[in-house]
Amino acid sequence: MTDQKLPVMGNREMQELIPLVNRLQDAFSAIGQSCHLDLPQIAVVGGQSAGKSSVLENFVGRDFLPRGSGIVTRRPLLLQLITSKLEYAEFLHCKGKRFSDFDEVREEIEAETDRSTGTNKGISSIPINLRIYSPNVLNLTLVDLPGITKVPVGDQPADIESQIREMIMQFISRDNCLILAVTPANTDLANSDALKLSKDVDPQGLRTIGVITKLDLMDEGTDARDILENKLLPLRRGYVGVVNRSQKDIDGKKDIQAALLAEKNFFLSHPAYRHMADCMGTSYLQKVLNQQLTNHIRDTLPEFRSKLQDQLLSLEHEVEVYKNFKPEDPSRKTKALLQMIQHFAQDFEKKIEGSGDKVDTLELSGGAKINRIFHERFPFELVKVEFEEKDLRREISYAIKNIHGVRTGLFTPDKAFEAIVKKQIVKLKGPALKCVDLVMQELLNTVRKCNSKLSNYPRLRDETERIVALYIREREGKTKEQVLLIIDIQLSYINTNHEDFIGFAYAQQRCSQQKKTSMGNQHLNGRQETRHFGRQ
Ligand code: GDP
Ligand code: MG
Repeated sequence: MTDQKLPVMGNREMQELIPLVNRLQDAFSAIGQSCHLDLPQIAVVGGQSAGKSSVLENFVGRDFLPRGSGIVTRRPLLLQLITSKLEYAEFLHCKGKRFSDFDEVREEIEAETDRSTGTNKGISSIPINLRIYSPNVLNLTLVDLPGITKVPVGDQPADIESQIREMIMQFISRDNCLILAVTPANTDLANSDALKLSKDVDPQGLRTIGVITKLDLMDEGTDARDILENKLLPLRRGYVGVVNRSQKDIDGKKDIQAALLAEKNFFLSHPAYRHMADCMGTSYLQKVLNQQLTNHIRDTLPEFRSKLQDQLLSLEHEVEVYKNFKPEDPSRKTKALLQMIQHFAQDFEKKIEGSGDKVDTLELSGGAKINRIFHERFPFELVKVEFEEKDLRREISYAIKNIHGVRTGLFTPDKAFEAIVKKQIVKLKGPALKCVDLVMQELLNTVRKCNSKLSNYPRLRDETERIVALYIREREGKTKEQVLLIIDIQLSYINTNHEDFIGFAYAQQRCSQQKKTSMGNQHLNGRQETRHFGRQ
């Protein structure tokens, strides 16, 4: 990109750049992922409770983001702020409906999050597009991402941390993404989750903007002057310090305007920050971001335009090829359709079987995800099927007593053992079927992804998806039957002669050697096909 190519722009034109990209963003959301253009944007990253939501709300001057403990942001929120005389919000997923009550905005974000992730606190990388018009905002587009977490809660999958990391990476690894790295001042900067992540994708600190929150919560006698003066861990775009509302302020419904004033006074009166008070605080941060995003868009525009033109050309070329089909020559048309289906099949195979060419570094492929289901999710589900040792002991003792009936009995009957073990084996059914469901889901997702290339031919795409999905569903039924059959096989005969019972067998052998008879269950040796369930 050279300077000659840059259009000369006035201030007003410059201010139009962010809304322009907003429109592109909406258009791309509508056509899905089939268009791989990398739009300039700012992504907000940071650990849980670093103050990300607070910073965004201060920009808007309204409480509109879901709050709470745990992972509250579970889908990326694409927040487009637009300067306007009227104040209202609008979602892309219910376009035309104007929200002027910001509590309703929060409820809608929560509802829309649950719509695609379910209520079990899972995450999804499909963004929610929210547009806020207000006289208090500068044109700005930000992506709010889930906070970096360490510990799964509730029904969350064990690998939630890596899932979130992967999602954040999807956004910030793109060269066109500015990273707003939010770090609380009352923790060690060197341990900042946000800065660690941004360092991975932007080692020279060229596109990272540091935000230091919670300056009011620092230990007495310490301050963040070195960081804010960009001396400690220098970033090319520097750091901005902010003071957001504390939890007490929020609970007490402290007005954001009052909080912004208090923030200003904080910087003006603090001996360590007084000299740079002009370059601190929320409104300064808003201004800087508006400027940097605008410049960033301007710088990337020429390259972006040429990419868009390339895509347009290749599409036009494709259209030309199909236009040339003469109606009297159906063989070419069939050939073209077949070719597309073949490409679809190849893509699908690559995504499942893995491939060496054009490795995707942004997200896991279908095959890799299925691998994860088997090796992480399934064991996790198995561990969850816990049993209470006390209950188990009680059941065993009841089983023994019931088998002996009116007699007290001298030895532990095998039947008691079988009854209990069988009950445990039955418990495998749930997780095993769930595993099938998860794999199914992934296969269908993969079909959809591979299908997106056919999006120019919606009928072909829909029909392909319908037929492939139907086939997969058919196999689902068969697979589940098979899984249940295997478990039933294990239930029908418990082979205590298996090597897993070696302790038993060994004791029995010694016993039988002493008696010099071949009693016990050795006569089954080598002839019995059934294996012990623990070996599956
Ligand atoms: P997020 O998880 O990164 O979105 O963090 P939140 O914005 O929800 O903030 C987490 C908690 O920290 C909330 O209780 C906020 O009130 C509090 N908090 C955030 N920033 C500041 C700050 O600058 N000063 C003080 N005192 N509290 C803050
Ligand atoms: Mg938050």
